[in-house]
Amino acid sequence: MSLKKDFVGVLMAKSFEDRDGWIWMNGNFIPWKNATSHIVSQGLHYASAVFEGERAYNGKIFKSEEHTKRFFKSAEIIGIKIPFSEDELNSAKKELIKKMNYKDCYVRPLAWRGGDQMGISTTQSNINVAIAVWDDWASYFKIEDRKAGLKLITSPWKRPAPDTAPYEAKASGPYIICTMSKEFAESKGYHDALMLDYRGYVAEGTGANIFFIKNNDIHTPIPDCFLNGITRQAVIKMATEQGFKITVRHILPDEIQNYDEAFLTGTAAEITPIRSIDNINFTTGDNTTTFKFMRDFSELVNSSN
Ligand code: PMP
Repeated sequence: MSLKKDFVGVLMAKSFEDRDGWIWMNGNFIPWKNATSHIVSQGLHYASAVFEGERAYNGKIFKSEEHTKRFFKSAEIIGIKIPFSEDELNSAKKELIKKMNYKDCYVRPLAWRGGDQMGISTTQSNINVAIAVWDDWASYFKIEDRKAGLKLITSPWKRPAPDTAPYEAKASGPYIICTMSKEFAESKGYHDALMLDYRGYVAEGTGANIFFIKNNDIHTPIPDCFLNGITRQAVIKMATEQGFKITVRHILPDEIQNYDEAFLTGTAAEITPIRSIDNINFTTGDNTTTFKFMRDFSELVNSSN
């Protein structure tokens, strides 16, 4: 399972700008270091971009087609027309992983408006599409933190209303809310932040969905203003098949103390236990349901290959 993998910390990794290997960009495989974009580009200045986050296990991407579909949907929501087909991108991802000689890796497709037009208007914009893969997010959080569970603090930043930000799109723009929340948490000595939504309900982590457990009952917030993660959906299916009762509902921060366990789900985070949120503690460790789900999920992603 992933917990046994060697850990190379995200922060300790070599700069992403200075690596060897290949990147798929606008239809071609080019050397990693040549995969640059001009600084005067719409995507960089106005966050006119969408991306995906995927993981390959044993050389095969878990739910590759679903991720590609979400990539196209994200692009459509923010008005980007991707000049490739879903099949072309699915093949490009596969070929790139082979070319990089990876078995287990993280996959990052990105589409962004280029420099043909500057400003808010996009009528003359050109669209770039690229895919990069890397193998040093074996564990997104440090392995010792995953084992002990994460410490979360509630962020002062909120998930916005659905008519304020395109919550179903994995669009770069709204990620500044996640980045500011993460910076807030890390500056205070926490691993991650819990974000509430614009109404004050519990929403999610900065890059992952959240679940709570009490005995056989599993509760998770309604994804009505944040991403309905592909991992979240896989975990709900897996837990339901195992006989757990899943309730998707609006959860108030005051209710968090009623649960025994809590965990995050996401492509990068996979399943990661939460040790505490603010001053509320949860049970973690080998005998918990969360650890059982971690083992089961590891089997699931490896056996779908
Ligand atoms: N919420 C946010 C803000 C995320 O960045 C992610 C990671 N993509 C998720 C939830 C979980 O989504 P998924 O399981 O599809 O990776």
